[in-house]
Amino acid sequence: MTLTDVEPPSPADAPALRPAAATSRARREAKGAGRVMGVLGALLLGGCVLVAVFAPVFTPYSPTEPAGTPFSRPSSDHPLGTNDVGQDLLAQLLFGTRLSLVIALSAAAIALVVGLWVAVVAGFYRGATETVLMRIVDLMLGFPFLMLVIVLAAFFGRGLGTTIGVLATVLWARPARVLRSQVLKLREVDHVLAARAMGCPGRWAISRHILPRITPLAAVQFVRIANIAVMLEASLSFLGLGDPSRISWGTMLYFANARSAFLTDAWKWWILPPGLALTAVILGLAFLGYAVEEWADPRLRRTAPRPVRRRSMPPAPPEAASAPALRLEGLVVEYKLPGSSVRAVDGVDLTVPRGHIVGLVGESGCGKTSIALTVSGVLRPPGRVEEGRMWLAGHDLGRPARPAVAPFRGRKVALVPQAAMNALNPAYPVLDQVAEAARLTRGAAATRRAHELLERVGIDRSRHDAFPHELSGGMKQRAVIAMALVNEPALLVADEPASGLDVVTRAQVLKLLVELRDELDVGILMVSHDLPTVSRMADELAVMYAGRIVERGPAATVSSAPQHPYTRALFSAFPSLYGECRPLAGLPGEVPDLTSTTAGCRFRPRCDEAVEHCAEEEPALAPSPEGTTEVACLLRRAPGAASDGDGDRDAAAARGLGP
Ligand code: SF4
Repeated sequence: MTLTDVEPPSPADAPALRPAAATSRARREAKGAGRVMGVLGALLLGGCVLVAVFAPVFTPYSPTEPAGTPFSRPSSDHPLGTNDVGQDLLAQLLFGTRLSLVIALSAAAIALVVGLWVAVVAGFYRGATETVLMRIVDLMLGFPFLMLVIVLAAFFGRGLGTTIGVLATVLWARPARVLRSQVLKLREVDHVLAARAMGCPGRWAISRHILPRITPLAAVQFVRIANIAVMLEASLSFLGLGDPSRISWGTMLYFANARSAFLTDAWKWWILPPGLALTAVILGLAFLGYAVEEWADPRLRRTAPRPVRRRSMPPAPPEAASAPALRLEGLVVEYKLPGSSVRAVDGVDLTVPRGHIVGLVGESGCGKTSIALTVSGVLRPPGRVEEGRMWLAGHDLGRPARPAVAPFRGRKVALVPQAAMNALNPAYPVLDQVAEAARLTRGAAATRRAHELLERVGIDRSRHDAFPHELSGGMKQRAVIAMALVNEPALLVADEPASGLDVVTRAQVLKLLVELRDELDVGILMVSHDLPTVSRMADELAVMYAGRIVERGPAATVSSAPQHPYTRALFSAFPSLYGECRPLAGLPGEVPDLTSTTAGCRFRPRCDEAVEHCAEEEPALAPSPEGTTEVACLLRRAPGAASDGDGDRDAAAARGLGP
């Protein structure tokens, strides 16, 4: 099988965005610039904060008391000279840092709180509230910025509180506008909609699901409006609308201008230092804002792959080469709940030979996914393996608890999970994610191996650096399959591998799985509701009902001549593209409650062939009368077939499927 044998992705898979290589290169450059700017911003702002805090250490003079002869030039006593009333200009510069920062940060904090409240209320509750609030925002943003500040400051008079209040009044509308658009997106996210649909109160949804998600963006907004606040405070004070009794950089410039320092060489020590200080803070905040923005939006950066923690794998047993990919014996999985427990899997024997696809089918709640999670080593509490043994590529894992499977994950067993399209980390390009998996076995060659697999599953090299959100659903599914197979595991567990895809893409993905099975000699345990599709793809079918396998055999035989009444009912529920038209038959009733066990056949309440004896004995898998499949039905046993678990295993072993 060659690369040219793979059907190209459908037109729907074609990239809709700009070329990935170019965007990735731009992001790499942005990442480096972001780090440098973050460090520069922190240094500049950190220096200003230190000066503000330790101002009394750097100068013995008060910024408001005369300390020398008026209009002194710089000297050893007064490094920046004195002003018209003899106040030390260095003391004013150092203490002025405090006031400038306090005003800017206080105004920014108040504006952010108000803007955040408006954004959340308008974006989450919408309706008339949103209309009113957003018109006010439009009004605030529509006014000439500086003129509004001057009018408000002149109207409310001069003072520290007035300055902070005026700045907050003109600044809150910007974060309100930006954050509201994020709230509008977040309120439509599936898990928020689900929480609301289940009766979650609005306040709880906001605090639990909305606020944590917009906090990074709010941090970016804070830095931005703090930057604007610094400039506005200086402008207000320079125009004489600040509080002249308190020294800030703006009031220094105001007095320098009022005393005609611009007309003499006094501007060098009276105007230049506060101007440079303002520039340092503005640059520091701008640099920091750039870095915070990059931190808040993972799409702007490309981080290095996380180091992979390798676990040592036990040496392969001698029979590993000929051993099946998976062998389960008597697997029992229970979910412990307060006051009860659900036995989701109840004594399942199953074998997946290498190079075979075994389809595990049945209704929801029959235990298919519990088997998939157990075999993959990702079954989580309250799920727990109570009984049974498992062999993975010849390795005897005993009772397959998570720690026992962990060393084999990725190398001997890999999982393509349900909703695999969500299995990709949105913060990393797909190449990094596949290479991260490849690092388990390939070390330095991981990236090359990742390129190979991505190309093999039909993703063009120009798309390898793309982030998941830049790929279509089909391409994401292919990337997940590449990630699962990059280490050539013996067993691939595919849990609904094509769910959520359109018909054409689904067919391409399933065809790809069949091809990879042949190329890599991997055993595939395919869990699905889609009985017609699985029966066409699989070599073997195992039909599950209420935690047990009720029919097992070659897929062609089971699908053409199903023996168990449940299997027949499942096939009758699907239309056939071939043969005579026939009415579709639904299956009445539901899967029984697995918190309790009842005597007799579990399918009896829904079975239209049930006889009296079915209520007394629970049928075990036994050869069918034709001997081609195994069936757990009292009416379908071959004459003289054993009906206990040993009989099941003997029959399966005879066909090369059982343990
Ligand atoms: S054992 Fe009885 S109830 Fe169960 S499937 Fe067979 S006929 Fe139906």
